[in-house]
Amino acid sequence: MNNNSEIINNDKKWKRSSALATAQKKYYEKNKNKLTADQIKYNKEYVKKEIKCECGVHYKMASKYLHMRSKKHERRMEKLKNGDDPNISNSMTKTPCECGSLILKRNQKVHETSTKHKKYMEEKRCIIIN
Ligand SMILES: [Zn+2]
Ligand SMILES: [Zn+2]
Repeated sequence: MNNNSEIINNDKKWKRSSALATAQKKYYEKNKNKLTADQIKYNKEYVKKEIKCECGVHYKMASKYLHMRSKKHERRMEKLKNGDDPNISNSMTKTPCECGSLILKRNQKVHETSTKHKKYMEEKRCIIIN
């Protein structure tokens, strides 16, 4: 009976591999809790880890994705590319006026009415006329 012996052989093979699989499964089950505990601990620490972005901002690993896509990151990278200090927002950037004063861009109009600026403009006019 050839068919029968084949079935028995298959059955034996199956039993052996099944025993191996069970052993592996047991090993995994036994270590699973430890493994996941370690993984969770690692992930928690990893996620909490602060990383300094190339734009100069510190972000937590957990918010890396959000930061990289943020307008803030984009703006800062743009400033760095232009050689500007990304820590100074545009509205706070002082630019030198031709009269020699350092002024905030948003204060330009007010500055133009200042004595110093007016005096400078007056002198400049005189120089041009002479
Ligand atoms: Zn960034
Ligand atoms: Zn001025």
